[in-house]
Amino acid sequence: MKRVLVTGGAGFIGSHLCRRLISDGSKVTCLDNLYTGSLQNIESLLQHPNFKYIDHDISEPIYLEVDQIYNLACPASPIHYQKDPIQTTKTIVMGAVHMLELANKVDADILQASTSEIYGDPAISPQSETYWGNVNPIGIRACYDEGKRCAETLFFNYRRQYNLNIKVARIFNTYGPNMSKNDGRVVSNFIVQALKNEPITIYGTGMQTRSFCFINDMICALVLLMNTPRTFSGPINLGNPAEVTIADLAGLIINMTKSYSEIASCPLPEDDPRQRKPDIAVARQILKWSPKVNIAVGLTTTIDYFKNILSNSHWKSQTIKNNHFSVDSTESTFH
Ligand code: UDP
Repeated sequence: MKRVLVTGGAGFIGSHLCRRLISDGSKVTCLDNLYTGSLQNIESLLQHPNFKYIDHDISEPIYLEVDQIYNLACPASPIHYQKDPIQTTKTIVMGAVHMLELANKVDADILQASTSEIYGDPAISPQSETYWGNVNPIGIRACYDEGKRCAETLFFNYRRQYNLNIKVARIFNTYGPNMSKNDGRVVSNFIVQALKNEPITIYGTGMQTRSFCFINDMICALVLLMNTPRTFSGPINLGNPAEVTIADLAGLIINMTKSYSEIASCPLPEDDPRQRKPDIAVARQILKWSPKVNIAVGLTTTIDYFKNILSNSHWKSQTIKNNHFSVDSTESTFH
């Protein structure tokens, strides 16, 4: 039985991944400090004999005997990662060192959840893995972007120096059930606002673009990547290349929810990337993977999920915990 560690396992992507690994027959240890993750996301796994949850902040070292490590721990929504930017960089960089040291000690394979943010505000589109990016190193997003860039550097240096079996996934915008309603990112914000008939907060003109990948597609890609031969490390873009403007996304969600919401124009946050679209040729070739779920289908499932949690008082009490840190933000559940 494969022993798998998932850091940020109570987050959006992490909790889906834990569920998938358990159903594949692995023994899963989930590390999370619940900064943005939530025990509700892993509630159904807590009693499972092959699942173990440990409250831990990966900016501190830990020793565990495992065969594979998925390193997902970090707040990933701009509003959350900018709240304590120093701790965000520590979580990413020191967390990477601690997980790489652990992988080296116990001879585990290790996958890093990197991000499309390493491309910054890209000057080319679509972004392929050979593009080095356009990042403001001293801006408000740098705590995350530069942290993730440094983590990639560390991963490749551990491969060069210690011959570790590393995998680097550059994860583009991902959405789905089990995102927190307080996540702050565009899909969850717009759906929650639309369902409550509150104003839809479009930042800037709404002409900026993103490409949204449904969570189930992302989980498949991550598991495929982890199990590639050790000669392949990436980096590899994982995402859905279907690009939409934020204004079109707002219109789509208003229509799908039959909402009375109006548009509220808000200031564009500093350094907000103008465009984002993955070139997934490498993923198609190496993983034989491409996303299957189009945005209308993925949004239908996600809207149903938010309808459910908004009408359920159990979830209404859910708040972001400020007392400690780490963990992933992108997180959800298979229905
Ligand atoms: N955005 C918006 N309204 C919101 C939240 C986000 O217009 O309520 C915009 C944001 O400015 C960005 C895009 O939507 O251009 C995606 O933002 P998000 O925070 O989801 O993720 P990012 O890709 O920027 O990390």
